Amino acid sequence: MKIQKNYNLSKLNTFGISVQVKFFVEINTEADLKELFNIKEFKNNEKLFLGGGSNVLFTKDFNGLVILNKLKGIEILKDNSNDVFIRCMGGEMWYSLVDFSVERGLWGIENLSLVPGTVGAAPVQNIGAYGVEIKDVLENVEAFDVDMGKNKIFQKEECKFGYRDSVFKNEFKGKYFITAVTLKLSKKENKNINYKILQDYLEKNKIEIKNSKDVSDAVGAIRKSKLPDPKVIHNAGSFFKNVFVKVSEFEKLQKIYPEMPHFDEDEMVKIPAGWLIEECGPVNGISWKGYKKGNVGVHEKQALVLVNYGGATGEEVLSLANEIISSVKDKFGLKLSPEVNLI
Ligand SMILES: Cc1cc2nc3c(=O)[nH]c(=O)nc-3n(C[C@H](O)[C@H](O)[C@H](O)COP(=O)(O)OP(=O)(O)OC[C@H]3O[C@@H](n4cnc5c(N)ncnc54)[C@H](O)[C@@H]3O)c2cc1C
Repeated sequence: MKIQKNYNLSKLNTFGISVQVKFFVEINTEADLKELFNIKEFKNNEKLFLGGGSNVLFTKDFNGLVILNKLKGIEILKDNSNDVFIRCMGGEMWYSLVDFSVERGLWGIENLSLVPGTVGAAPVQNIGAYGVEIKDVLENVEAFDVDMGKNKIFQKEECKFGYRDSVFKNEFKGKYFITAVTLKLSKKENKNINYKILQDYLEKNKIEIKNSKDVSDAVGAIRKSKLPDPKVIHNAGSFFKNVFVKVSEFEKLQKIYPEMPHFDEDEMVKIPAGWLIEECGPVNGISWKGYKKGNVGVHEKQALVLVNYGGATGEEVLSLANEIISSVKDKFGLKLSPEVNLI
């Protein structure tokens, strides 16, 4: 294990932002973490955990220690007539775990196909796509307490999962380095294809779902057609979260904007943030969608995605994000919140 000084992270965040960090270390084994705990650079510095860097925006250099999760391994813990319990180390890429699952014909995470990033970061924002969230199949999360130097296991209910939210983003932010995750996947067919875009795609292409790989392939195809690949255009996926409002508030908005798309969820109404952004712009009559300013912009196919066309600073991206937030607030009175972690 080697602590590196003045390390540049431009290749380790999908926004491609060039930032320097004071110290940088890669964790390849759980023993590395224990060893790191006794090192002065660890004790004396602010710490930042990093996986694939696909949900972070660096707005300035980081004057602390970045700990990169490279813990590898996927194992089947238990296998009964209905379910399979899979323990996956946090440094594995999420897509590898989805592949592992669908290759074995298991059901549960096929809708989360091609979500970028590591398994260790997946519970942090309770990744979700096409009607499924990791919380639906999660058994427990193993983590290393960086203050006490001890391991802790969080059962699902202790993770306090919400929409793109968990305890690891709130009260335990920066305290627990997630080392492994155990999922309970189903052997029995358990398809979840009610999500409108997925349903439409299956119907249009006359695809009959025979196994979980069929779902994973369909989701993969939809994602590739809609979302920009960070290897081609730097981005961090959806920059903003969708907005949830009370039914009464939505009814008032609907009177003014009858065309406003909405989804009923748990006694609240979800309004797609992408639509709100498309309906606003830098000046009246122009939409943010496809807007470009200097090195940054809003993706032409997906208004939720902010992009770095090359050479942008994190501050430039943040400044565009703030302009978008203000315009949505001015027009609809709704507050957009970033999904991406601002560092
Ligand atoms: C093109 C694109 C599409 C995307 N689509 C989706 C989508 O459909 N659904 C969705 O939910 N997300 C999506 N995302 C966001 C992203 O993929 C997820 O948030 C993913 O879980 C981030 O993983 P990561 O390893 O890159 O995390 P990072 O960006 O490295 O870190 C994210 C946060 O987690 C913390 N963290 C990282 N590792 C650990 C750890 N081991 N222990 C504790 N904290 C840690 C970091 O400090 C940071 O706060 C997308 C991103 C992109 C670029």
